[in-house]
Amino acid sequence: MSEWEIIRQYTQRPPVDVVGAIRALGILYREEPMRQDQSGYFQKSGNYYTIGVNANESPQRKRFTAAHELGHYVLHRDLLQNGQHLDRLFSGPFEATSGPNRISPYHEVQANRFAADILMPAALVSQRFQRLMDVGAVAAEFGVSPSALKIRLKNLNLIA
Ligand SMILES: [Zn+2]
Repeated sequence: MSEWEIIRQYTQRPPVDVVGAIRALGILYREEPMRQDQSGYFQKSGNYYTIGVNANESPQRKRFTAAHELGHYVLHRDLLQNGQHLDRLFSGPFEATSGPNRISPYHEVQANRFAADILMPAALVSQRFQRLMDVGAVAAEFGVSPSALKIRLKNLNLIA
């Protein structure tokens, strides 16, 4: 089974099981207390990968961070050298503060887009929003923050 097929199995219905997908791909998932300005990290050690998420953040934020780091695994792991890629401050611009690697702000945008795609699959989110017409209710169903859902719905042209 390809990686995408594995991920798809965990993203069929809300709330998407992002940690399940991470584990099914053989990646170690950890939640640990981090500094307030740190969201999570993606760590590569040869063929072993770890995704770390700041245990102090809200469940929605942890899910978004986990999905963002999964994006680095799927899209960028070949660009990364051994070591830790640390992500700070999700609300603002990303600041990648790890050792030598070729991850740029562009890759952070890609990882964010990946996270939105898997946590709020276009077809599912449109269907639920058109039925419920309620950002808060749909956000709760998908385990995402209302602000993340609003951005998604705007990008899908479902709200102005
Ligand atoms: Zn990142």
